[in-house]
Amino acid sequence: MTLFDLTGKTALITGSSGGLGYAMAKGLAEAGARVIVHGRNTEKLEQARQALAEARHDVLVTSFDVTDEAAIERALADLDAQGIDIDILVNNAGIQLRKPLVETSHEEWQKVLDTNLSSTFLMGRHVARRMIARGQGGKVVNIGSLMSSVARPTVGAYTAAKGGVRLITQSMAAEWAEHGIQANAIGPGYMITEMTQPLVDKPEFNDWIINRTPARRWGTPDDLVGTVVYLAAPASNFVNGQIIYVDGGLLSVI
Ligand code: NDP
Repeated sequence: MTLFDLTGKTALITGSSGGLGYAMAKGLAEAGARVIVHGRNTEKLEQARQALAEARHDVLVTSFDVTDEAAIERALADLDAQGIDIDILVNNAGIQLRKPLVETSHEEWQKVLDTNLSSTFLMGRHVARRMIARGQGGKVVNIGSLMSSVARPTVGAYTAAKGGVRLITQSMAAEWAEHGIQANAIGPGYMITEMTQPLVDKPEFNDWIINRTPARRWGTPDDLVGTVVYLAAPASNFVNGQIIYVDGGLLSVI
């Protein structure tokens, strides 16, 4: 069991006030980690904190915009001042834009790239610096997508960003392995959350998912928990720069 034991570790999960991030925070807490839940909406964050605290998990909260480097630095300095070191970073905060490329404005493109990809770089950079200085290694888990490796119409900006997440994960692994830091990614398939609810509600899209996915269903946030715990735990200590797709087999047939 020590292979999957996170007792004594602290995990910061960006975008964990709900959806996939919350499920991963809960899973990491159940494996023994102290978790820091994060988002911008303080009401949603407080609800997440309360739910985890009621389940007797060790939980802290932080709130900042992942596209704002100065805000990231302030939040991490605040954790430093409290003597809180991050052992596990899950870069999960993200947004989706469903628009054909020719209708996507430069501003929209930039926002999708900033929120999904630049945030991964900025968080990784500032947290890994601290991990390296501390000399006790660490784990970085970046949340990509099925779109990290395959394109579909109307998600061009998102696909570019998530493809970048897969590749920056390899760069992180290449640069940080010597410091005992493993960086890996997870590529979720179609999972039911607030982000995808509009797609669930479209009968033709819903039918496509059910008929096309070998598992014949949407994923749920809980489907990600085993993979994030594995990538945060000693069990994956020689796994580095990889992406694991959690998609019910969809990438194999898409
Ligand atoms: P949700 O929309 O449910 O949650 C997104 C989270 O990110 C929220 O907690 C939100 O918090 C936070 N967030 C968004 N933008 C910012 C920002 N600028 N600064 C800080 N926090 C931010 O999405 P999901 O749970 O569905 O998705 C989570 C991740 O998984 C995303 O990266 C997404 O691309 C990826 N993914 C999701 C799939 C799915 O099918 N659901 C499939 C593949 C990948 P707040 O609103 O409080 O700011």
